[in-house]
Amino acid sequence: MSHKYNVGLIRSKASYSIGEIAQLYSIDRRTCGRWLREGLKPIDIEKKPLLIMGKELKKFFKEKQQSQKSKLNEDEYFCFKCRKPRTAYEGSERIVETGKTVGKNKVNQQMKKAKCRVCKSKMNRLIKVCQKRL
Ligand SMILES: [Zn+2]
Repeated sequence: MSHKYNVGLIRSKASYSIGEIAQLYSIDRRTCGRWLREGLKPIDIEKKPLLIMGKELKKFFKEKQQSQKSKLNEDEYFCFKCRKPRTAYEGSERIVETGKTVGKNKVNQQMKKAKCRVCKSKMNRLIKVCQKRL
């Protein structure tokens, strides 16, 4: 999942089609399609085939790698809209049961839900099972 993409293969001033990007990194075209949904911006969304500027692609990879690296603090969530760790909007935090159990002792798995302090998108985070409860 945490595939590393060598940005050195991309020329900032060149434009790339989905097919070219797929070929460059020996990946599936569908992976590129997913990137578009994740925020990779084509030059013109109306034009087919879609072309993506090298500069944009580099930026996307960098952000992608950063978001994979960033570790969350206890009170942080990863906001998929901001693509950054964010704290909760005041009063929006709540704990819900996921309906699953984890570990040998079948502890109910819980999840924290909150709204992003910045964009107010929904965020959630699994709560690590506390050792004391086992
Ligand atoms: Zn956000």
